[in-house]
Amino acid sequence: MTPDPDCLFCKIVAGDIPAEVVHQSERTVAFRDINPQAPLHVLVVPRAHEPNAAASAQADAAMFAEIATTARSVATAEGYNDYRLVFNTGAGVGQTVFHTHCHLLAGRPMTWPPG
Ligand code: 5GP
Repeated sequence: MTPDPDCLFCKIVAGDIPAEVVHQSERTVAFRDINPQAPLHVLVVPRAHEPNAAASAQADAAMFAEIATTARSVATAEGYNDYRLVFNTGAGVGQTVFHTHCHLLAGRPMTWPPG
C-alpha cells in the first residue's frame, strides 16, 4: 500500500495531520469530519489510497463490507441506529478529497432525494 504524498487523507491516516479518530482497524480509519453536516458526521476511509469508492472496490472488493461494518460500529457506539452512508464519487457530485471515504451521517432528520 503506497500513500500518496499529496493526499490529505493519506496524511491523516499516517498521523501527519491531526484528526479526531473514533475507530481504527488494520485496514480502515474513521475520524470526525472537520465541517460536520449532522450531529454525527464521521468519515470512514480505507488506509490504502484509491481515488474513489469504485477504484477501492476494484482493488479490494471486501473493503466495502469493512467500511459498512465500521460505520455501523461507530454509529452504534455513538447511540444511533439510523444513519446515512454517502460515497461522493467524482467532482461533479461534490467529491473534494480524492481518497475513498464514506460519510457517516446521523442525528437529524434527512430528506430524500439529497441536495
Ligand atoms: P467530499 O466532499 O470529498 O465527499 O468530502 C470531503 C470531506 O472531507 C468534507 O466533508 C470535508 O469537510 C472533510 N475534510 C476536508 N478537509 C478535512 C480535514 O483536514 N480534516 C477532516 N477531519 N475532514 C476534512
